[in-house]
Amino acid sequence: MTLMVVGSVAIDNIQTPSARRDDVLGGSAVHFSFGASLFGPVQMVGVVGDDWPEEHTKLLKNYGIDTAGLEIVPGGKTFRWTGKYLENMDDRETLDVQLNVLGDFQPKLPEAYRRAQYVFIGNGAPATGLEAIKQLQGADLIVADTMDLWINIARPDLAALLTKIDGLVLNDSEAKMLTDERSTISAAKKILTMGPKFVVVKKGEHGSMFVSQYEIYVVPAFPTENVVDPTGAGDSFAGGMMGYFASKGNMDAETIKTALAYGTVTASFQIEGFGADRLREISRENIDHRLEQLRASVSF
Ligand code: AMP
Repeated sequence: MTLMVVGSVAIDNIQTPSARRDDVLGGSAVHFSFGASLFGPVQMVGVVGDDWPEEHTKLLKNYGIDTAGLEIVPGGKTFRWTGKYLENMDDRETLDVQLNVLGDFQPKLPEAYRRAQYVFIGNGAPATGLEAIKQLQGADLIVADTMDLWINIARPDLAALLTKIDGLVLNDSEAKMLTDERSTISAAKKILTMGPKFVVVKKGEHGSMFVSQYEIYVVPAFPTENVVDPTGAGDSFAGGMMGYFASKGNMDAETIKTALAYGTVTASFQIEGFGADRLREISRENIDHRLEQLRASVSF
């Protein structure tokens, strides 16, 4: 099944307690695409300026990522994000955001992308996701991500987006913020009343949870010791999960649980290097090996 992502394409500056890296290829669409590319081809929709290095496009293509949907705005500047991780490597501060061409991004899907069956709306303004969804011709599964920023500044657009999607992926704290609920499960159930048929709540090193009207599945995080840079963990989780869904073409219970586990394992590799460095080094074999380790650790 064809898989498409719409999201941010960025140049990131990342600081961790022990290192700093500037001008790292990033953005929600990029991290999603590297994760999903381990499962099959991906169509990527995003926008950059003419400061965007051509070698980044070549690199994406080398990983089976279709960049026909990457718009280059002449005279524009690429979105830039600078973040700093605190000592616990979980909490982070955004030090600087320059929206640049992402600020008024109106996605225009190439003709071939409009028939995508599996679609992920990565982190970005909800209005961008709504515009992309309008151009689709009968997708089988539309899943979106969101974050605290959009819950705070774009709630009406986010509410509209929730009515157009099948699933929402978000962090535990964001689910609670969106719903004013205190427990994860109450928050997830409240989100089901806002439109989506299912919610995937990510709880960082405590794993993730899939909640629909009749099902609840939990998957623990893969116990990773070597956390180098958590940037893109959520996006690569979604990439692994959606990549697996698209490769299977169904949503039965076994597929849902396995997709959550694949998302978990993909994210566990992502955080072992800066930006997408680690995902670029690994193959589907490495992912499958770790999936078996995760499976062995939870079967009893
Ligand atoms: P994650 O760690 O999964 O939240 O993803 C981090 C990526 O999201 C980085 O590569 C950033 O460039 C990108 N990002 C940060 N803030 C935003 C934003 N407001 N909208 C879209 N993308 C963002």
